[in-house]
Amino acid sequence: MKVRTRFAPSPTGYMHIGNLRTAIFEYLVAKHNDGQFILRIEDTDQTRKVSGAIDFIYDTLKLCNIKIDEGPNNVGKCGPYIQSERINLYKEYAKKLVEDGHAYYCFCTEERLEKLREKATLYKRPFMYDGYCKKLSKEEIQKKLANNEKYVIRQKMPKLGKSTYIDKVYGKITVENSVLEDQILIKSDGYPTYNFANVVDDHLMGITHVIRGNEYLSQTPKYNLLYEAFSWEAPTYIHVPMVLGTDGNKLSKRNGDASFMDLYKDGYLPEAIVNYLVLLGWSPNDNQEIFSMEEIIEKFDPARISKSPSTYDIKKLQWFNSHYIKKLNDEDYINLVLPFLEENYDLKDKSKEWIKHLALIYKDHISYGKQIIDEVKLFFTDTLNLDSDAEEFMKDPSITNTINVFKEKIENMEKWDKESINNAINETKNEANVKGKMLYMPIRIKVSGQMHGPELADTIFLLGKDTILKRLGGK
Ligand code: GLU
Repeated sequence: MKVRTRFAPSPTGYMHIGNLRTAIFEYLVAKHNDGQFILRIEDTDQTRKVSGAIDFIYDTLKLCNIKIDEGPNNVGKCGPYIQSERINLYKEYAKKLVEDGHAYYCFCTEERLEKLREKATLYKRPFMYDGYCKKLSKEEIQKKLANNEKYVIRQKMPKLGKSTYIDKVYGKITVENSVLEDQILIKSDGYPTYNFANVVDDHLMGITHVIRGNEYLSQTPKYNLLYEAFSWEAPTYIHVPMVLGTDGNKLSKRNGDASFMDLYKDGYLPEAIVNYLVLLGWSPNDNQEIFSMEEIIEKFDPARISKSPSTYDIKKLQWFNSHYIKKLNDEDYINLVLPFLEENYDLKDKSKEWIKHLALIYKDHISYGKQIIDEVKLFFTDTLNLDSDAEEFMKDPSITNTINVFKEKIENMEKWDKESINNAINETKNEANVKGKMLYMPIRIKVSGQMHGPELADTIFLLGKDTILKRLGGK
């Protein structure tokens, strides 16, 4: 049987990296087995729907080099792929369950349910529907339906025994049937619940492996009972642990920076994000850290997904991203950082060459595109603010002489190029009789205000003779 997996997001117009990681795992399981990856939109909660959200998901996955074999925008044989367009189908299946005695109509009013909830609170018990409508006679049901009374359809759960299944990550999961609520399958507005729609769709779409967050681990026995009731084969389950923020909390929209698109807009490379996310909760059998998509597809084995939650650490992501930035060719790198430069600085009287040179000297220094804004500030300002370490360093009495000697070399330079600048630095070394840190650091701090940065001669060259003399001039 061909392996088929699906990514089933709600169309919220937002994808945090935990969701994206699930999509990646789903894609990898499919492609590792030469299978297909399907996109299904779970929009049965109409209040969460955002326009343009489907294109947003397509764009996100495309950027991540994840190809959707079937979905709303490239419909295959199992369409439609948007749950709100499949409403009648769920009702049909639910009615079939009612006919076969696996589900029942429930006409309980909100007031009655509220009373049950209050009672549960009073006795400090979790709320569970009491099965009241299970006892209604056929005639009573017909009458209520004919009267257009509002109803939901509930699943009839066994009250005795246990349910067990095997999860690929968490192993054997067993629950007492007595804790399984007669859950709602079809809501009073005619829409299915996630609990019902996911089973019907996974079956009808031929899904062989279900990969999703571990919050569904304890719900899955209910889904298996539905598969049984329909005499369908249940899929293989791969529940994945949560991704937490560094504060130990579950990632949420409010955390802001955990959104894929925000990272992308800040100049993180999708390849780096994917590489980082794959290792968030999964590890290969060796210590390899950098993978191309092809390599990950080849190596991915869901049995190596960890059971414990992983922490989203932006510093680690930056490490991956800087690695990928260094590997970019110069043209792609310039395309990454140029928009940030153009948006934040006046480049009108700078030549193309100058801008390119400036961008390139930071290629090995930045972890994400947007970072270049702060890094190059010293090229666009008249005031340099030294931090306390730099201030401290400049107190050394030998520095005045070094700077004076260097300044004189610069004044006398005829040609303004890197070679001449390096010569001036070398001559200063001999004349002022200083070397290493005591040679470079005073010059670097004077011209850039910083103790670290790209090659000194590049910085000096790009700042230009006038600015350099001005900066050296001071004290
Ligand atoms: N729409 C569900 C969610 O976003 C999908 C869960 C699943 O993959 O079954 O949590």
